[in-house]
Amino acid sequence: MGYTTALHLATIFDTRIEYLRGVGPQKAELLNKELGIFTYGDLLQHYPFRYEDRSTFLKISALHEELEHVQVIARIKKVELLGMGAKKRLVAHVEDETGEMEMTWFKGISWIQKKLPLGASYIFLGKPALFGKKWSMAHPEMEPSSAASESRPKFQPVYSTTDKLRARFLDSRGISRALESLIPLVYSHIPETLPQEILQQYQLLGKQEAMRQIHFPSSLELLSRARKRLKFEEFFYLQLRLLRMKVTRMEKSMGQVLSNTQLLTEFYKHHLPFELTQAQKRVIREMYEDMRSGKQMNRLVQGDVGSGKTMVAFISMLLAIGSGAQTCLMAPTEILANQHFEGLRPYAERLGLSIALLTGSTKKSARKELHEALAKGTLPILLGTHALLEEEVQFNNLGLAIVDEQHRFGVAQRAKLWAKNELYQPHVLVMTATPIPRTLAMTLYGDLEVSVIDELPAGRKPIQTVHRYDKDRLKVFGFIQQEISKGRQIYIVYPLIEESKSLDLKNLMDGYESIARAFPHHPLSIVHGGMKAEDKDYEMQRFVKGETKIMVATTVIEVGVNVPNASVMVIENAERFGLSQLHQLRGRVGRGAEQSYCVLMSKYELSRDSRVRLETLVRTNDGFEIADVDLKLRGPGDLMGTQQSGITDLLIADLSKDAPLLTLARDAAQQLLREDPSLELPQHAPVLRQISQQKATAVNWSRIG
Ligand code: ADP
Ligand code: MG
Repeated sequence: MGYTTALHLATIFDTRIEYLRGVGPQKAELLNKELGIFTYGDLLQHYPFRYEDRSTFLKISALHEELEHVQVIARIKKVELLGMGAKKRLVAHVEDETGEMEMTWFKGISWIQKKLPLGASYIFLGKPALFGKKWSMAHPEMEPSSAASESRPKFQPVYSTTDKLRARFLDSRGISRALESLIPLVYSHIPETLPQEILQQYQLLGKQEAMRQIHFPSSLELLSRARKRLKFEEFFYLQLRLLRMKVTRMEKSMGQVLSNTQLLTEFYKHHLPFELTQAQKRVIREMYEDMRSGKQMNRLVQGDVGSGKTMVAFISMLLAIGSGAQTCLMAPTEILANQHFEGLRPYAERLGLSIALLTGSTKKSARKELHEALAKGTLPILLGTHALLEEEVQFNNLGLAIVDEQHRFGVAQRAKLWAKNELYQPHVLVMTATPIPRTLAMTLYGDLEVSVIDELPAGRKPIQTVHRYDKDRLKVFGFIQQEISKGRQIYIVYPLIEESKSLDLKNLMDGYESIARAFPHHPLSIVHGGMKAEDKDYEMQRFVKGETKIMVATTVIEVGVNVPNASVMVIENAERFGLSQLHQLRGRVGRGAEQSYCVLMSKYELSRDSRVRLETLVRTNDGFEIADVDLKLRGPGDLMGTQQSGITDLLIADLSKDAPLLTLARDAAQQLLREDPSLELPQHAPVLRQISQQKATAVNWSRIG
């Protein structure tokens, strides 16, 4: 999004950075390599990542560990060289009238040593740390104390930089000085990128002022307004791009009008096994609005594990079938497809609808029959795995395609489903239990409509989660025994990842044997990725039927499996799983009326992140809260799909921290498109200009959905 590529015509922003006063070719080359700064425009967009208060000085007695950066004025009492070799360090003992502290250097010792004459006073700036009872500061920045009497900026910007740049005097201060030269040169050329009406409505600073304030804030208030303005702009253009994609698609793709509710009413009256939750009802209404609109539905339904997505899917199928269309539901594994089939068949049969299952293991003869029924239109419900995507699977009139647990499927695979109806693309419902924070969903799936089932069916007892160390294993076994005696079933899950596959497999097998020894009288099942599909299925079915009491497995059971009688989930090496994966696994229990438990087993030594993950899980069952923590721990860049979504273009806005602003920006973009879908109005010229400039660098958005 740099100005370099952003402007068609060469402008002052394209000027190579070496021409800036005080930069020159050598520093320019370093700026290119180290920070990707090539032009004036790039430097202008190298925003500070933090600001330091340089107007306040603290007394040593007032230091505090929570403080990130402080300034103290102190006099040098004694300087000594301590330690040997790699542990060598230079320590300056300093004092003010309230106390003493130490300044420490591990690098550049000989150079610093010369700068520390006894008795001289300096301003030291850095992070204070307490060692024993003594305050110290490592590698403080230093200035002569006389500088304290000058007027010092309250908000000194801090820029990211590197060691190589620092060695060339392009430390944070150096970059700030470069910007001091740059801003007066370019200030009046900085174009306004948002329309006046939006600036007014959201009370945003103009672009020029925002750019000046972000680098040289004159007050805390103006700084925060500058940050707000620049973040808003980034979100606004991100959302505008996604919304325009959606508009384009809606214009192009007609959808069958599926509005007949007769079949659904019959189901509601006579067969609905439970009262729907308010959230289920709301999502069903949202889908209904889409399906009868004449436009193709593209909706993502997000619902935490156990929130009842399957019933919502079935009801949307009834809407489609009631209007004469066929439906299909694709699941990521055979186990899941089977389970959907077993679960939905009774309802379908009661309504007199035929329903079929198609997976890799469907027999040839059965396939033929199935293909014929599909082509004739006599089979309204087809469930299955990606076998549904095969060429031979031809519908008479596919009206609704549902994809369960979408993150297991690639976009290309989904696109094949769309193609199964040439006349009208089928309505599409994508269901996922991977909770994504709303802000991220808005962006990752910004071109889909999103519905959220944010409520669990009544009467569910929240799963109790505990964290236990490996040494507590015997107690955990005792607990398992107790639950089995009450008639419950148990999952014990082991990690298995590709990188350490053979070791993990051995771990699983060892675990299995010790469990078998501990529970000699209970039949066990084992399921792992290395097994043949039919063997896996066989074991799974034994567990589903209650023939086996303990299921020892890898994460193949992560998604969707529903055994209401299973009430305990033990996760081995829990520290090796990601947060959302742990949450998914835990969601396999808590599906029946009984109190359920999740036991996270781990070794004793844990990294900080692992500990946060396990603590989060113990604290809450709320998938969205968990997703938020996950986002904060990992950052959006690591989450799936974010690479293509434009999130990585964000320079200053942060999806995990600036959620309210994202919502505002999306509203603004939506309103703009409502008023002026093709951006023809003269007052929207800045928007059009900005978009066409961004296109030059944009990834191929149309591929992403
Ligand atoms: P998920 O959203 O994880 O796919 P499921 O659709 O498998 O959840 O539903 C989990 C369980 O909750 C199933 O046994 C289902 O029959 C049950 N269920 C769904 N909706 C309700 C409801 N409104 N009231 C009671 N039980 C429900
Ligand atoms: Mg499900």
